[in-house]
Order: sequence, then structure tokens, then C-alpha cells
Amino acid sequence: MVLEQDKLLQRKLLKEFKSAWELLDEGEKEKVFSFSEGYKNFMDRGKTERECVQEIKKKALEKGYISLEEAIRRGTLAAGDKIYAENRGKAIVLFVMGREDLESGMKIVGAHLDAPRLDLKAFPLYEEAGLAMLKTHYYGGVKKYQWVAIPLALHGVIIKHDGTKIEVTIGEDENDPIFYISDLLPHLAADQMVKKMSEGIAGEDLNVIIGNIPYQGEDIEEAVKLNVLKLLNEKYGVIEEDFTVAELEVVPAGKSRDVGIDRSMIAAHGHDDRVCSYSALEAILELESPENTAVALFVDKEEVGSMGNTGMESMFFKHCVAELLALQGKESYLVLQRTMKNTKVLSGDVTAGFDPNYPDVLDKRNASYIGKGVTLTKYTGVRGKGGSNDANAEFLGEIRGLFNHHSVAWQVGELGKVDQGGGGTIAYILANYGAEVVDCGTPMLSMHAPMELVSKVDLYMTYRAYHVFLQ
Ligand code: MN
Ligand code: MN
Repeated sequence: MVLEQDKLLQRKLLKEFKSAWELLDEGEKEKVFSFSEGYKNFMDRGKTERECVQEIKKKALEKGYISLEEAIRRGTLAAGDKIYAENRGKAIVLFVMGREDLESGMKIVGAHLDAPRLDLKAFPLYEEAGLAMLKTHYYGGVKKYQWVAIPLALHGVIIKHDGTKIEVTIGEDENDPIFYISDLLPHLAADQMVKKMSEGIAGEDLNVIIGNIPYQGEDIEEAVKLNVLKLLNEKYGVIEEDFTVAELEVVPAGKSRDVGIDRSMIAAHGHDDRVCSYSALEAILELESPENTAVALFVDKEEVGSMGNTGMESMFFKHCVAELLALQGKESYLVLQRTMKNTKVLSGDVTAGFDPNYPDVLDKRNASYIGKGVTLTKYTGVRGKGGSNDANAEFLGEIRGLFNHHSVAWQVGELGKVDQGGGGTIAYILANYGAEVVDCGTPMLSMHAPMELVSKVDLYMTYRAYHVFLQ
């Protein structure tokens, strides 16, 4: 029998990461569920980075945000001003100007809007064996075998000959057709089944079936392909050459869904990293006049290395900050550097939760768990923390204190056990500016699968973590 005084000692000295569901206050469970409904709605509307940017911009405009260009035109900047800066329709930043000058530093939550998927190639359409097909090139780290024999939708933009841009979404309305990538029947899969999983489905085999009816005419070659083009032309006014200048993404068709008899979890496409993006969005939209300027940063291209002018490596964000500093009468490059150095960042990205089906890839004592709250990841990286932002103890201590003070359920988590693999986020890029950065996001299962899984309580705690940090 454990003596009462020993129990007290245990409670005082030991740290136990409890289920966040059990830590919820009276009435908070309802908030978790209603917050999740908003998230599901966002997920169903934003299935590409472009669609997410539109959703974020719409919500920001409703809250009185003005564009950076508008702020520059006005030429003034005051505490509580709400500003958004959009980057080519694929990335967006929201600022709520603080009571302190920008130079004293910002509080940033940085997340990414892009998600692993299949992109159409530049010249995708062909006909083979009576089927019209689309060639794809996968984007980000996908397990190719997961993308066959599931319902697929097509989202994206096409620039037409006359320069007009059209937005295409096919496969989401329940009356829409969907698209499909075939897999081999088990009866004939003897050769395929002995291949390594990474080779069972090849990248060049991820071809999307989009038609079967031939165009009716005399001696028409590739009549099925022609018929598909005819239908696309009738509906959208496009011709085959327009594919060469289009950005079309193949994603799983259908809406996000509750998971579990207790409806405790959500399955959806692109939780990585829209779960952190949405949490950051809702957190910043509630802010009126924070002490330090609050920033929610939604970037593109994280899944392919953060390159390109819409990724975190681009100068876009720094340029936005320079513009705001100029509005505060500070145009020197040195002030920009000081501002970045004084800045604190939660790098909002998902992490691998402990999966009881695959217990061997994580150190169970240092893994995050589904349902135990938002995860602080001190370091990511591979092998000996290679390529990692290794957050400073002092900053971690500050964040720990903040979360404890506000009863945010948090846990720690490493992305895989030592030498199992690893990964990275945008954390190191913001750290390169001199800012304090720690990875802080939602634990999940089946990361990068067409449908991923998160717990509603972890989503909610991610939002609460970002809110107490930014406010
Ligand atoms: Mn991510
Ligand atoms: Mn990812």
C-alpha cells in the first residue's frame, strides 16, 4: 500500500502526461466539438493551398483585415491594425499590430498549407486501351500504393489562351463524377506482391482514368481522348495546350469525417498541416490589440523543401515585415534584422503520434500520443539531429510556463526513435533569421496518407496553445 505522504511526493516530483480529454474544464468538451465542426468545414472548402488561402482571406476580410497594399496606400499604422499579405494566391500572412513597436519583436505561428498529393504533368492527357488517362507527378512524400483504387477529385487553376484564369473543382459535389487510379487484381498480382512496398506501385503508374466513351466520327484516332477534350471544352472552354500552363492537383474526393463511436477524432485529407493552419487562423482572428505584433504565417511548398517564391525560404515574409517597419518610419535593414532577432515563433506543424499498430518506430517514452494535447518538439532532424532546429531551453521554459499557466494540455514528442528516419519543418528557416523557434503542433496518425487522423482534443489544444502564445 502506498502511503499518503508517498503519494504526495509522487505528485510533486513525477510528470505524467495525461489524456487531454480528462483535463478539460466543465463545458470545454462542447467547445472541442464545436471547434472541430469549424475545422471540418475549413478542410472541406480548402483542399489545395490556393483554396485555403481564399478561405483564410475571406475570414480575415470579415474581421476587418486590410491588404498590405492598402496599408501602404494609407501610409499609417496603429496598434490593433489588422493586415494581410497574400503571396501569389498560395501563401498568406496575417498581422495584428501590437501596442509595442514592431522592432521589439513579433509573436509568430508559422504553418504550411500545401499537402502531399498528385499533380498533373504538363502534358497529361493520353489514350490507352480505350481509356482516357492523365499522367501525374507526385508532390511531397507519398506512399504511392495508397493512392490507387480510391475516389479522387481534381482541383486547380487553368490559364486559358485569352489569359483568363479558371478554377476547376471536379469530384467533390456528390453529383460530380470522381476519378480513379487502377490497381492490379490479386489474381494476377503474384509478381507485384513480392516487390518491395516502395516499388509495388511505380510513380509512372499513378495515371488517373478520366474517360471511356469515344467521340463519334469516321477514322478518328484517340477518339476517347478527343471526347474528353470536347467535354472539357464545352464546360470550361479549354483546349489541350491549356494543360501545359495549368496547376491541377489530384486529391482524395469527399469530405472530412468524424472517427470513432465517440466521435473523438477526424479523418481528412491534408491535416498536415492544415490542422495547425486552422488553429493559428482561429487564434489570430480573435486578437484585438496584443502587446507584440501577432503573426499567423501560412506558407506553401513545405512538403517539397520550402523552395520557390511561395515557400518559407523566399524573401516574401521578410519583405512584408520591412514594409510594415517602413510604415513605422524605420527603413534601415538593421532594424529589420533586430525585429527578426527579437521575434518568437511557434513553428506549427504536425508530428507523428504513437501508433499502437507500429510501436517500434518511436521511443514510447518520448513519443506524443493521440489525445494528450499539443506537442512540443524540441528538435526534429535525422540521425544525430541533422538539419534540426534544436529549440533553446530558455525559450522552451518560457513556453512551458505559458501553457501551464493557461491550462493548455501539452506533451513532448520526438519524430521517430533514434536512427529510425526523421523529418523537418519550417522552424530552422525562421531560426536562421535569429528568432527563437520551437516546433509546436498536433500529433497525428497516418501522416501523408490520402486520409490522415487527428484527435479533436489535440486540435483544440493546438488552437489554445497558439492563442495564449499570440495574445
Ligand atoms: Mn507538415
Ligand atoms: Mn508533411
